[in-house]
Amino acid sequence: MADIVIELQNVSYRYPVSDDYVLKDVSFTIEKGKFTAIIGNNASGKTTLCNAIRGFIPHFYKGDLEGTVRVGGKDMQETQLGQMAEQVGYVFQNPFIQVSGVKDNVFEEVAYGLENLGVPVDEIRLRVEEILKLVNIGHLREKNPFELSGGQRQRVALASIIVMDPDILVIDEPTSQLDPVGTEQIFDIIRLMKERGKTIVLVEHKMDLIAEYADDLLVMSEGKLVMQGPVREVFANPEYERYNIQYPHVTEVALQLQKSGMPLAFLPVKDSELAEA
Ligand code: ADP
Repeated sequence: MADIVIELQNVSYRYPVSDDYVLKDVSFTIEKGKFTAIIGNNASGKTTLCNAIRGFIPHFYKGDLEGTVRVGGKDMQETQLGQMAEQVGYVFQNPFIQVSGVKDNVFEEVAYGLENLGVPVDEIRLRVEEILKLVNIGHLREKNPFELSGGQRQRVALASIIVMDPDILVIDEPTSQLDPVGTEQIFDIIRLMKERGKTIVLVEHKMDLIAEYADDLLVMSEGKLVMQGPVREVFANPEYERYNIQYPHVTEVALQLQKSGMPLAFLPVKDSELAEA
């Protein structure tokens, strides 16, 4: 049987100050090693869902939680936030929040989490060097994190999480500050993490990249999980159009052609498959 690492059962949640539930009866499972993208319009509940997966709900945001969230087989209600942090690495949408501000260069910033865990100095050095190279920020090692551009900070933020080697990576719009080249670089790193067996949950608006890299989709609309399944099945399902969310470019073009009478399959094809064909 598949190894389920994230499981939500009938989860509903309301923030302390809000009148309405912002997650409504959400249920899904994610298998170990899968790359799942969460998509949906603004305020549909994507970040809140991430907060539930990393234990911020219910441990940091109190509010009303119904249903069960299980991560790595553990019920979130019965787990400490600190324990979750070792298992789930969370990369914020806003890299200005993530950078700790207590360290005065990038190397130390990336090493900070490992120092807190009491990892021996020699091992810290090796792990940080490897990650700086991987994320392509070795040349920034002596820089003050506050002198970096938004895109550079986004990479430092990702590096400081990857270096902790969590089993699960929850990444909220990691490319919002990046140009197309920087964006591709981040997705290459995420792909590498998948190859290393990590389970990845990503909130992202760039549908072309999702079509290319992700395995599965969760589609949120007004707090409800309205569609879920393999990426190409969801984009190819006519029901998707109802939620007014962008399509991948290739699907959009094919849909237009189809509307003008061309009998085309409009499933997104991954570049990797084209290379194999
Ligand atoms: P998305 O990530 O899809 O944009 P969010 O999960 O951020 O959606 O927000 C879903 C809803 O929850 C929105 O109506 C938002 O205003 C509300 N919300 C988000 N964070 C908080 C909070 N800390 N306190 C109260 N309401 C919140």
